[in-house]
Amino acid sequence: MSVPRPGAARIAWSSPKVDRRLTEHAGYTVYALAPIAKGELILTWGGVIITTEQLHHAPQYAADRSIQVEENLHLCSGLVDDVADCVNHSCNPNAGLRGQISLVAMRDIAPGEEICFDYATSDGDPDFYMKCFCGQPDCRGEVTGNDWKTPSLQERYRGYFMPYLQRRIDAQK
Ligand SMILES: [Zn+2]
Repeated sequence: MSVPRPGAARIAWSSPKVDRRLTEHAGYTVYALAPIAKGELILTWGGVIITTEQLHHAPQYAADRSIQVEENLHLCSGLVDDVADCVNHSCNPNAGLRGQISLVAMRDIAPGEEICFDYATSDGDPDFYMKCFCGQPDCRGEVTGNDWKTPSLQERYRGYFMPYLQRRIDAQK
C-alpha cells in the first residue's frame, strides 16, 4: 500500500478563485476567477523576515515582493515568483489585510475584477513613496509611508490595517 505524500510545500497560499495575468499597464495583476464573498480569505503571504535597513539595500525585485509586518520588520518572499506577490495597490481597493500575512475581500468581488489593497494599510516606512496610476476617481496620485496618518483613511480601513499600524493609530488617540 502506498503512503499518500503531501503536496510540495509552498511559501505562500492563494485561493483557487484567483490567478494572475500580465498586463500592459501594471505588470502582473491578480484577478478573480470566481465570485469571492466579503470577508473571504484571498491569499496568505510567506517569506523571510528582513529589517528596514536590509530592505533598503535589497534589489528592487525583492523589495517589490515584501510587506511591512512590524516596526522595522518586513516579510519578503525574495526570489520566489508567486501569485501572492502580484497584488497591486489601489486607492479604491476591494481587499484588505487581516492580521499580518493575509488578504481578505473587503466587499463582494465579481469574476474578472482585479484584486487590490491600499498600501497605506501596510506601509509605514517614512521613506516609502510611489506615484499611483490606479485610475480610480479618488486616486491620491501618490502613496507614501505616512498615508496611515490620514484620518479619512484610518476611518475607511478600520479593521484592515497591519497590526503595527493600528497600534500607531491607537497611540495617537
Ligand atoms: Zn491611486
